[in-house]
Parts: sequence; C-alpha cells; structure tokens
Amino acid sequence: TFTLGPKITNWDKDRKIWLHRNPEFPTHVNDKPRIMLVTGSRPNPCDNAIGDHYLLKATKNKIDYCRIHGIEIVYNMAHLDKELSGFWAKLPLIRRLMLSHPEVEWIWWMDSDALFTDMVFEIPLSKYKNHNLVVHGYPDLLFKEKSWIAVNTGSFLFRNCQWSLDLLDAWAPMGPKGRVREEAGKILTANLKGRPDFEADDQSALIYLLISQRKLWMNKVFLENSYYLHGYWAGLVDRYEEMIEKYHAGLGDERWPFVTHFVGCKPCGSFGDYPVEKCMSGMERAYNFADNQVLNLYGFRHRGLLSPKIKRIRNETDTPLEFVDRFGIGRSSGSRS
Ligand code: UDP
Ligand code: MN
Repeated sequence: TFTLGPKITNWDKDRKIWLHRNPEFPTHVNDKPRIMLVTGSRPNPCDNAIGDHYLLKATKNKIDYCRIHGIEIVYNMAHLDKELSGFWAKLPLIRRLMLSHPEVEWIWWMDSDALFTDMVFEIPLSKYKNHNLVVHGYPDLLFKEKSWIAVNTGSFLFRNCQWSLDLLDAWAPMGPKGRVREEAGKILTANLKGRPDFEADDQSALIYLLISQRKLWMNKVFLENSYYLHGYWAGLVDRYEEMIEKYHAGLGDERWPFVTHFVGCKPCGSFGDYPVEKCMSGMERAYNFADNQVLNLYGFRHRGLLSPKIKRIRNETDTPLEFVDRFGIGRSSGSRS
C-alpha cells in the first residue's frame, strides 16, 4: 500500500539528539515555541486571472500576520508526491518540512483560501501542551453525527514529533489519485453524513480515521472551537461592520474571527459551490477588514471594505515613536481602539 516515504520510527529521539547538537537552532524563541506556517497553491496559473490576484492577496495577508507575530512562512507550489496532488498535497509537504526543520515545534497548515481576519489574536499554544494535532471541530458532529464537516482541514497545527508522522502515515492511503482516490471516496460518502459523492478528500479521510480509530488517536487531538482557527465565511463576511462597531481585534471568535475560510469558493478553479460574485466580494471584504488592522499601524485605512483605496487616519507627527507605542500590535492596548 501507499506510503509517504521510508517508515520512520525513532523521530522523537533522533530529533532530540539533533537539537542538542545544534543549539543555534532552538525550538523556542523568546520563550515561544517556533511555528512554521505552511500554505501554497497549485503549480499552474488559476483558470481565471482574478483567482491569481486573490491568491496574491491571501498571501500578503498571511505574510502580514506572520511578520507581526514572528512566525516563519513557507509557500509551496510543487507536488512533492505526484500521487498526492490537489488537496492532498499538504500531507507530504508537512512531513517533509517536519523532517527538514527539526527546530520547528509546530507546523501550521493554512489553505490558500483562508484569510487571517484578526491580526492581534495569537494561538494559545500553552493550552495544547499535551496534544499533537489541533484542528477546528466539534466532538458531537464528529462522533455522534459522523458529519463530513465535523472538523475542517483548512487550518490546523501538527506538533513536530513521531506521533504526527504516524498520523500522517495513517491518513495518506486514501490519497493516491485515480482509482484509489475514487474508490475511497465511495467509502467516505457511504460513512459520513452529508458528504456529496466525489473522490476522497483529505478532510473526510481525517474524519473517517478519527472515528474509526478513535482510541488510537483522539487522546492527542485537540478539537478547538473556542475561537475560529477556521471560520466559515458565509456567516461572517456580512458582519464585519457590526464587529467593528461593537468589538475589537484580539477576540478571535464570532465577535472578531481569527480566520475567515472561503470553503466551497474555489477562486482559483472553475467549479465552486457558490456564485463567483458572492465569493469575490466576500474575499475582498475579509481582506480589507484584515488589511485595515495592518494599515492602522501606519496611520491609514481603506475607504470602505470593498475599496482598494485608502485614506489617512492620523496626521503625521514629529514625534513618531508615540504612535509606535500606541498602535503597534502587541505593544499596548492600541489595537483596541
Ligand atoms: N493546494 C495546493 N496545491 C494544489 C491544490 C491545492 O497546495 O495543487 C492547497 C491550497 O492551499 C488549497 C488547499 O490545498 O487551499 C485545499 O485544496 P482545495 O482543493 O480544497 O482548495 P480550496 O477549496 O481550499 O480552494
Ligand atoms: Mn479551503
């Protein structure tokens, strides 16, 4: 059967020895675990030029968040394993990055069609000290309903450890394109509530694995739903003005979603589940909502959530350091204004 590579069994120990020998690559920087955010898109241009424009915007959005929070970012456009193309491409990539960057403690996958919409919120990593996989999801939907949307694999974190390599190995076999993926899709549709009939996708496969081998994996899986590690766009993009009026960045939940994910939109492809116009305007709004939080650092904001044009919101001053203290994210309460 299909494997992601040579079976690795001793990663925790080998990694530990490597870390000991390479103290210039610590797993923690400024007391925080080192995180690598990984995203990417297909090797070829989008079917539509506007799709590439939105990929660029989504990439800028991630660069902004990562720069502000000291997170490394990787953008991949290659299929590392030709069997695992499309949505499965993340699996060999995550494994490769874990093995090539033993200094990284957490690998954080984020889909190209997911945007950061809370530029202040930070992942509460200390909460996950006993877990190895953090994914947005709901236990009831998973184990009672067996719903195909019980967890979302558009944004999740893996600890760099043997357990994660094992999980990736157990997750991958439904991925090889062609017959295997087609046949596996039928099994997934037959077993998961609400799943349309199509080839096996990484999300359904993970859900199926967690349900069918619950005892083996769940004690190290954290199903997060106290904030939007993944936030479904449809209920969010029309509410940004209301959020601005009532709340402030840093909350990360339905009051100010950490991530807005354009599930079902396929801006880069041709066959989405929603009208293209609705997706595009939603993305534009999410992008500008987030970008305002970035521009605020520099004294500007967008004229409206659908406008690429910006305007000045503070006058220039001859004492600029005051603004650094007041408006820099994570420096004071400036972000609450
Ligand atoms: N992806 C990739 N390479 C590909 C196709 C997809 O890296 O060839 C990534 C991309 O980031 C995308 C994610 O995999 O957002 C999930 O794929 P899917 O087809 O579900 O796309 P989405 O619906 O998220 O646009
Ligand atoms: Mn997606």
